[in-house]
Amino acid sequence: MSHIDTLPPLREVIQKHGLAAKKALGQNFLLDLNITMKVARAAGDLEGVTVLEVGPGPGGLTRSLLASGAKRVIAIERDERCLPALHEISDAFDGRLTAISGDALELDHKKILQDNGVDLENDRIKIVANLPYNIATPLFTDWISESQWPPYWEGMALMFQKEVAQRIVANQEDKAWGRLGVLSNWRTNSDIAFDLPPQAFTPPPKVTSAVVMVSPKPEPLVVKQKTLEQVTQAAFGQRRKMLRQSMKALGGEDLLNAVGIKPTLRAEELSMEDFVSIAQFMEQRAK
Ligand code: SAM
Repeated sequence: MSHIDTLPPLREVIQKHGLAAKKALGQNFLLDLNITMKVARAAGDLEGVTVLEVGPGPGGLTRSLLASGAKRVIAIERDERCLPALHEISDAFDGRLTAISGDALELDHKKILQDNGVDLENDRIKIVANLPYNIATPLFTDWISESQWPPYWEGMALMFQKEVAQRIVANQEDKAWGRLGVLSNWRTNSDIAFDLPPQAFTPPPKVTSAVVMVSPKPEPLVVKQKTLEQVTQAAFGQRRKMLRQSMKALGGEDLLNAVGIKPTLRAEELSMEDFVSIAQFMEQRAK
């Protein structure tokens, strides 16, 4: 019998520990082992990998990560009601799960890993989560905004609302192309692994979800994130306007001509490389 078979079904766990889903915490649980195994597989080979999970809830995905061979799972959960259920999983998997109680938006993830004996330089680390939708974008943005690049994590598999997933993986001229896509495209390669309909969750959310696989680009184009965001904020802040208008405060037509970008284009027509070129020019100009 594998470890996972010694644990009670998740519905029983939810009942036993009184884990009625709280909407304010974005609690849409995955209770089907086939689905949680599919999410774990989207993270690639987990043998010997330490996984950082945000929002384990009753622990369905957590069980699958451990059953898939993760060396350890370090999971941050805000809802203290879930901790006893997570401790049961830890016991069933020889202590390979460490559950941390707290708000993942407030906590320093690198410090948590280090405090739990993880070597950020040498250990293999992945981030896998069925994210609470209300904080999914800021968490993702933080993970791809690491000052040291390549970052401490070698890959991520994350569940988002499909609309957010599409913005992350978007490219030039896609309807969903915007600030989030430029930032993500600058530093990472990302792709949607699969969609999940609302009925896959308990309780079902209103919208379709999607798992995004993310890997860091080893050598992103050299530019400061702050400058790049300044450019995309101006351009997409008035996305229907021509760039000569939306980017007026940064240098408008003169800036665009100097970089070789037609001032009559709109933000959605520029590629990630175009935005980086503008930002790089601004940095040179400021020296
Ligand atoms: N991983 C579980 C699953 O797949 O069934 C639960 C996923 S549920 C979509 C999101 C989880 O994130 C919930 O357990 C919720 O309590 C937790 N959560 C919400 N806000 C959080 C925060 N700020 N920090 C850490 N966990 C949070």
